[in-house]
Amino acid sequence: MISEIIGNDRFEVFLKSIDNDLAARAKSKGCAHCNGTLHSATYPRKPRGLSDSADPPSRRHSFCCETCRRRTTPASVRFLGRRVYTGAVVVLVSAMGEGVTNRRIEELRAVLGVHRRTLQRWRNWWRTVFPAIPSWSVARANLMPPPDTAALPASLLERFAGPDSSMRLAQCLRFLVPLFGPYGDRAC
Ligand SMILES: [Zn+2]
Repeated sequence: MISEIIGNDRFEVFLKSIDNDLAARAKSKGCAHCNGTLHSATYPRKPRGLSDSADPPSRRHSFCCETCRRRTTPASVRFLGRRVYTGAVVVLVSAMGEGVTNRRIEELRAVLGVHRRTLQRWRNWWRTVFPAIPSWSVARANLMPPPDTAALPASLLERFAGPDSSMRLAQCLRFLVPLFGPYGDRAC
């Protein structure tokens, strides 16, 4: 599943279109501090785990307020929270079973630069920090049956029934965005 999705240009274009919608919604709301008009101030940002062929290069949507000059950065499915890795990688890699072979861990390191330590940190984050996010308990109750916390994020991914694995992942990321907020989560 990972090799199918990571580096798949069509999947990246699809995520980008979701981000465009999220950005348009944020812009239409105006500045959260003074209600001023927001102007686009995107910046280049290349999260690890996206293909190098992305053209134009990945940019994170961001806005600058005309009145108070403060920056507004909308939520994003590509840039989940503050992570260096793209949200798709954090979800997919963490969702791999506990019984990941050494060979697979070696592949992850070679292809994505994800080390065993990072993988353990992500898993730990899904099992301990993520379940404590207050909006998660509300969102979890809307999924029937509620995903098993001990098996996150695989148990969450299973709740989405798209036609293929990339659609399911995109639905899962879309679900996660409001829980994370643009910068509201703790980095892992
Ligand atoms: Zn403002």
